[in-house]
Amino acid sequence: MRQSELFTRTQKSAPKDEVALNAQLLSRGGFIYKNSAGVYSFLPLGFRVLEKIKNIIREEMNAVGGQELIMAALHDKHYLQASGRWDVDVVYKVIDGTANDGDKAREPSFNISWTHEEIIAEIATKYVSSYKDLPFAAYQIQTKFRHEPRAKSGLLRGREFLMKDMYSFHASEKDLMEYYDRVGKAYKKVFDRCGLKAHYTLAAGGEFTMSNTHEFQVISDVGEDAIYVCEKCGYAENSEISKLKKGAKCPTCGGAMQEEKSIEVGNIFPLGTKYSKAFGLQFTDEKGKKQDVVMGSYGIGVTRLMGTIVELFHDDHGILWPESVAPFTTHLLALNDADASDAYEALRRENIDVLYDDRAMSAGEKFAESDLIGIPWRIVASPKLGPGVLEVKRRGEKEARTLKLEEAVRFVSSH
Ligand code: ATP
Ligand code: MG
Repeated sequence: MRQSELFTRTQKSAPKDEVALNAQLLSRGGFIYKNSAGVYSFLPLGFRVLEKIKNIIREEMNAVGGQELIMAALHDKHYLQASGRWDVDVVYKVIDGTANDGDKAREPSFNISWTHEEIIAEIATKYVSSYKDLPFAAYQIQTKFRHEPRAKSGLLRGREFLMKDMYSFHASEKDLMEYYDRVGKAYKKVFDRCGLKAHYTLAAGGEFTMSNTHEFQVISDVGEDAIYVCEKCGYAENSEISKLKKGAKCPTCGGAMQEEKSIEVGNIFPLGTKYSKAFGLQFTDEKGKKQDVVMGSYGIGVTRLMGTIVELFHDDHGILWPESVAPFTTHLLALNDADASDAYEALRRENIDVLYDDRAMSAGEKFAESDLIGIPWRIVASPKLGPGVLEVKRRGEKEARTLKLEEAVRFVSSH
């Protein structure tokens, strides 16, 4: 894509009230636009990053048999009333009616999408009747809305945010737990592929379940969570539930446990039968007996993941995107060079995802913008380098390579 055609431009400064570094860099780079506290629009560059992250998640969820769908975002009151969650603080409620409908119509009768256990449990009642209909899993990548009191962390805590939520349905607790482990492994792949080391962390059951759950925690000083994590084997427990004391030994390998701040990028819950009971979701087992379906739920904060990547991968000049989620893999900068368009065509022929800075601007400005945007490979075309010669540099590296056009294309496509 030609940068002259991109409708966004980088900015020297972020919105004044933006305190989170992830949001500052993403705003300045033209990835996101802050509409209000905790509410962001994703601009073309940010959209490309999100699509990369979503596709990684999709591939891994499909690999464990997840079926993608999109559920309703406007939920009639009966759903949360059935599970006893209508009065949960963070739920945004909607009044269905106008001032002319009289007082009764002024009571909220809907809520907007904050999570979907109730919705999917009710949908499943239509398709599950026998043990032969189980197991299955379904997921969506959808916008969630929560009235978060502290929405100051940019993409880490939105009032509107993108979540991948998957739900699984089983005939037994044992079958659920086997699947739970498989999803845990798939989650690890997702975070690895995004360039993140996420610790599989024992966590509290919360309101969903009586049994333990697991969170995926990325160590970061800006995280709101605290975990105890083993230096040696990576075993981790959320400090909220951990019985380990400072200086305690790791229960699995005897290594030293450290306390760290962390960001929860995902979690997995064995739900049990709470939502099945609330919606009468039952199946007939092999002996002809009716039983409640056993459910699991699995979340990933998609936009939080994007913010986490920026928190972990940046320097004083801007973002350093891991290649797997970068908006483009290559940033081609033309410095008064007519030959640059040859390089652009050659890169495109090799299917390299390239942003072509074809604008008339100083070299200094182009370099600074390129560092801020953080595309992994920078290729410079300049008359100073001689005809058909380009400079190739990786974002974050000091030294550039000088290569002939074909070599440069080959180099970038093989890295
Ligand atoms: P937290 O403790 O951070 O509020 P949660 O326990 O409420 O998270 P879930 O409801 O299980 O989270 O949501 C699944 C995932 O969605 C979380 O692991 C997190 O990555 C992400 N998430 C939750 N709330 C937000 C938010 N307000 N903004 C961005 N991502 C969020
Ligand atoms: Mg929460």
